[in-house]
Amino acid sequence: MEFYSEAINRLVEELEGLPGIGSKTAQRLAFHVLNMPKERVEQLADSLTTAKEKICLCKTCFTLTDKEYCPICTSQNRNKKLIMAVENTRDLVAYEKTGKYEGVYHVLHGAISPMLGIGPGDIRLKELMERLQGDVEELIIATNSSLEGETTAMYISKLVKPTGIPVSRIASGVPVGGDLEYIDEVTLLRALEGRTLL
Ligand code: ZN
Repeated sequence: MEFYSEAINRLVEELEGLPGIGSKTAQRLAFHVLNMPKERVEQLADSLTTAKEKICLCKTCFTLTDKEYCPICTSQNRNKKLIMAVENTRDLVAYEKTGKYEGVYHVLHGAISPMLGIGPGDIRLKELMERLQGDVEELIIATNSSLEGETTAMYISKLVKPTGIPVSRIASGVPVGGDLEYIDEVTLLRALEGRTLL
């Protein structure tokens, strides 16, 4: 891309480094930004840096939030005895959008993958086990139905069994290898309601 100036090249390269952004899209976005009023560009830049500076992990459920504890964990209306383990915050948001889940979450930040060298120590499993020492009536495992998600579900269920806490797995209305965030709310609800005890 020698036909662009240095500054444009840099912008295109930065955008290209984002997931799902190919070279053409990066160029389109770059020129879009260049055509935006200066204030809008400053707002965009500020929202990026502020988000990065302010966002941290909730001390209870490890979802991304801007406070010590997230709004779900601090809500009086949520059932703290019902915990749903999900792979990431996007999956949590997918379940929140159904508006029907009244429990709380535990964000694992990944799934066990022997192929990628991601072991149980690399996800927030120790923290989940610590939470389960409290008053918990059910743990719902809502990891994706990918190989990694299933491996993680099996691993967790074996780990939790001795505690006597009921462990359930969301029903397989969710297509194999499907990312939870792309699945519609009705399917998600059906998967949640049709969960089975492991
Ligand atoms: Zn939380």
